[in-house]
Amino acid sequence: MPQAATALLAVVLIYAGTTIPDTDQWLPLLGHRSIVTHSLLIPGLILLRWPMVGGMLAGGFAIHLAADLLSRKWVGYALVKLPLAGSLGATGSQLFLAANVLLGLWLYHRAAAMSGAARAAWATFGAAALLYFLVNERWWLLAVPALVLALLLARWRR
Ligand SMILES: [Zn+2]
Repeated sequence: MPQAATALLAVVLIYAGTTIPDTDQWLPLLGHRSIVTHSLLIPGLILLRWPMVGGMLAGGFAIHLAADLLSRKWVGYALVKLPLAGSLGATGSQLFLAANVLLGLWLYHRAAAMSGAARAAWATFGAAALLYFLVNERWWLLAVPALVLALLLARWRR
């Protein structure tokens, strides 16, 4: 795909990926930080049919879950919930979210390679991560290492 088309597709899918996780608050049976939406289950299912779309969506999830990892207190609201079966606990929630962030980054990396315009895909990812942290979490400094990582990966891809 051309660079511009890749960037546009990445913007849309990353935006969707950062937005979907917190829809659990409005869905029946799912509490906040439900394991159903705070994991790569949804992008994973999409990926089975549309690998690049699912991979880019996973990148958006990774950004959201990375931001969730910055919770100050690991109690109640912050914990990852199982449907009707309690939560993963403090350590379990952090490990679970971290594992999903790493997996999401890897899936995004694969999707970026598939697009044939990895640099555009990673530039978009870096910009999206920066904006997300800046607007939603104010932990924007974390976007700096994310951006550096993205640029390194983009260089390495060539
Ligand atoms: Zn969340």
